[in-house]
Amino acid sequence: MLLVALDFDGNISVHVDDPEAAGPLPEAAEAVEALSALDSTSVALVSGRAIDSLVEVSGAGDHILLAGSHGGEYRMEVGAPPLSLSEKELDDVERLGAILHEVSSRHPGTAVESKPAGHALHLRNADDEVALDAQHDVRRRVLAELPGVTARPGKDVEEFSVLAATKGDAIERIRAHVGATATYYSGDDLTDEDAFRALHDGDVGVKVGPGDTLAPFRVPAPVDVAVILTRLAELRATHVRSR
Ligand SMILES: [Mg+2]
Repeated sequence: MLLVALDFDGNISVHVDDPEAAGPLPEAAEAVEALSALDSTSVALVSGRAIDSLVEVSGAGDHILLAGSHGGEYRMEVGAPPLSLSEKELDDVERLGAILHEVSSRHPGTAVESKPAGHALHLRNADDEVALDAQHDVRRRVLAELPGVTARPGKDVEEFSVLAATKGDAIERIRAHVGATATYYSGDDLTDEDAFRALHDGDVGVKVGPGDTLAPFRVPAPVDVAVILTRLAELRATHVRSR
């Protein structure tokens, strides 16, 4: 079983200012469909987005496995129970939201994205100085008031979650779920490094864009990922049909 696991934003979709306006590149979406239709081949999206948001922007049907909230939420089987949090975790999610909204209200251009297990402060549309100040402010306040939560700094985003799950956990879990013997993973953000770390010998990791990485391969942009996936779908089709 080959597992093709994919970050969404900045990997098969181009980053856009309005996160809800994102969508996969047509060539990438086509390759994803082609791969998922092949025998002995599973496709999963592994994203920091909440599952609901991931379904909305990706349009992924039930044949695509989903890990959302950086491995905090899954859609692997129809009817699987939704994420369940303890009272304390729910309280912490609420307090986190209050802190982020307060910081955001003082920093024009920033925006809060709410997820089932945490919140993210988006800095992409703020001026550099404002973004830097908001970043320091939110880190300091969350550390002081909610020291137990997990911080996930990303590209133009400061995210905090009551769950410590990572994209590496997601890779482990999906690999076991499908019985993968080989895995492909590509992604563009800091949190994708956890996924690259979870790869085994013989797996393929591809970093998209600039920045330090554990991945052995790198391409400049999502359009290049679409090319990889299209070629992978062709080669995989030939391979599974020849068996
Ligand atoms: Mg990404």
